[in-house]
Amino acid sequence: MHSRFLTGSTISDQSGRQSGRIISIGECMVELAPRADGTYTMGFAGDTLNTAWYLRRALPAAWSVDYMTCIGTDAVSDRMLAFLGDAGIGTTHIARLPDRTVGLYLIELAHAERSFLYWRGQSAARLLARDPARLAQALTGADVAYLSGITLAILEDDRPTLLTSLTELRARGGMVVFDPNLRSRLWPNATIMCDAIMQAATQADIALPSHEDEAAAFGDASPEATARRYQQAGVPLVVVKNGPGSIITLANGTLAHHDVAPVRTVVDTTAAGDSFNAGFLAAHLTGNPLTQSVAAGAAIAARVISSHGALIAQH
Ligand code: ADP
Repeated sequence: MHSRFLTGSTISDQSGRQSGRIISIGECMVELAPRADGTYTMGFAGDTLNTAWYLRRALPAAWSVDYMTCIGTDAVSDRMLAFLGDAGIGTTHIARLPDRTVGLYLIELAHAERSFLYWRGQSAARLLARDPARLAQALTGADVAYLSGITLAILEDDRPTLLTSLTELRARGGMVVFDPNLRSRLWPNATIMCDAIMQAATQADIALPSHEDEAAAFGDASPEATARRYQQAGVPLVVVKNGPGSIITLANGTLAHHDVAPVRTVVDTTAAGDSFNAGFLAAHLTGNPLTQSVAAGAAIAARVISSHGALIAQH
């Protein structure tokens, strides 16, 4: 196990690392995207998977990128596993559950507006933290764990188990990175969502919230207010995304604004935040200063929103 790095007061003076292991924890779903002829193309996506996918492309080969989830034992789950493996993502910590399968979403196009229909209520991924020993094994030897508010939302009763394993990872010197990714319809009510998010934040070394979502849920008056709320929860490094607006970083009390180059023709904003997180983290973990790391995240996000789909191959 490596010693703790790039956190707390040491954020700015670390030289970074050219190798390590990051494990992303969450749900990958089947995606059905409409084609002009009325049929659908099957793909795979999901917030934590999208970030793992872009991390694999952005990090040096000596960094391993693993995904932790549960899937079924059916042929579609086989295809998902093959997709992850082909993308260079480690699948050792993906458990196969015989009595469940993967979740699915369908993209609906009405007058060029995209909306999403989900079938994920009983997905295998909801059980990813059911077995504490399996969780502990997956996190053993990890330098960084990445999770989102969607990971927490789907876990229902197992959130404390996951948080305990993150606490243990940090006690061993590992780092926890958290994107709150607030999705109110995945939670029983707003109070439960906000409480669970802020409880998880107490275990995060880096938080990557999006201001628009946070303002809606927490009433933050500004991106700075979002940053300060996570800082007050104990997060040493907060990076607040804000669509085309300036990105705010709050690192050990130091606030900075980073302008984002505007994208003139936004085609599809799916995975903007997920890909930003990957670009930012890859640069940060390998030792780049905050300004460059934010620019790396914004550059990937700009390419992603200029094309259709969550996973854009040219990286
Ligand atoms: P999320 O997808 O999580 O809601 P945001 O909408 O805040 O996140 O976008 C994430 C990142 O994507 C932003 O920080 C920015 O770098 C980039 N981005 C989003 N919209 C635009 C835009 N119109 N022009 C340029 N960059 C954008």
